[in-house]
Amino acid sequence: MTEQSSFLLPTSKRLRIHDLVKAPENTPYAQKKKHAWDARDPALVYQTPEVTADGSICQAATIILRTKGCHWWWSSGCTFCGYFNDTRDDVTSADLHAQWEAAKKKLDQFSEVDMVKVYTSGSLLEDREIPLDFQETVLRDCHTFQKELIIESRCEQLTKEKLSWAVSHNPNFTVAIGLEAYDDEVLRFHVNKGFTTASWHRAVENLRAYGLRVKTYLMFKPPFMSEADALYHSVSWITSVAPLSDEISINPMNVQNGTVIDRLYRNGDYHPPWLWSLVEMIHLSHSALQQNNTKTRIIVHPTAGGKLRGSHNCGQCDAEVVAAIERYAVSASLEEFSGLTCECKHRWSMEIELERKMPLPLGISKHRRTSKIDKLRSP
Ligand code: SF4
Ligand SMILES: [Zn+2]
Repeated sequence: MTEQSSFLLPTSKRLRIHDLVKAPENTPYAQKKKHAWDARDPALVYQTPEVTADGSICQAATIILRTKGCHWWWSSGCTFCGYFNDTRDDVTSADLHAQWEAAKKKLDQFSEVDMVKVYTSGSLLEDREIPLDFQETVLRDCHTFQKELIIESRCEQLTKEKLSWAVSHNPNFTVAIGLEAYDDEVLRFHVNKGFTTASWHRAVENLRAYGLRVKTYLMFKPPFMSEADALYHSVSWITSVAPLSDEISINPMNVQNGTVIDRLYRNGDYHPPWLWSLVEMIHLSHSALQQNNTKTRIIVHPTAGGKLRGSHNCGQCDAEVVAAIERYAVSASLEEFSGLTCECKHRWSMEIELERKMPLPLGISKHRRTSKIDKLRSP
């Protein structure tokens, strides 16, 4: 064997990097866990307060279905996405219909809600993930029940042909697109999103042409980014996408098991955002949108807020700050944050200031909840 050929595997089937990265998902433990649940039971069904398209406060149902998962994840996948934990390859149309009926039964046929959000750990309108007859059931039922429907999708499914078919079953729904970042370099190198801002623009244009509403998801602090950069970029992305979005939902990073970002986190190379950064981002983007006279609603939901794998502060003030951020998503009033402070806020602002002054692409963020003695110890 020559020196060069010793680097090659003997067969034509070579190991790809994402096979290695996704190894946790293929462990017997993960596979057993996945197949432990009943394919006829939805993953989660719950109600929360929401705001309708005309601005009134209502109750919304969220239905998270167990599906085959996202086709982009099958071939590559976003660096932070742990949705595969809730998926299973053998879910059929009959299973999905059973999950839908179970959700409707739990929600008393949607009698107490005005809005229904249907999440599939991928794209509802993607035929490779969701059987066509089930897509039709969701669209038609929500139209028949006269409920505001929100679904999620990547960009490539939102073609004119597909939307023309969808509006024939439900002429009035919202599509939430996980754009994550309005920056092609971040999409490619930080997120591995598999589409570009140009494809987002095309999808939005098509949605508008069919009179459908657009909700844009942005990610706060993707991997390989400092806290100060995350703050600076997110405000700029919000102001850029606002004129084309009815709503913007900012998802602060939470580290999900078995993902690329999980590896970075466990290695100490990534720290989830501070809650103070989210408060600052809300203040900055709120004023920027007011100056531009843009009415787009900004929603921030710190998933796992206050926990180590979600956005967090020192541990003392977290619950109060998370509650204020959640209230802002409904009231859109900066008053929610008045009087909110803590000793750790000074430490956060020093970190941001230092990161702005020093050329450190990954930032200086360290653990926030270690004892003072541990902080004095050398690493
Ligand atoms: S497109 Fe969405 S569901 Fe698919 S891998 Fe990315 S984040 Fe996950
Ligand atoms: Zn604090």
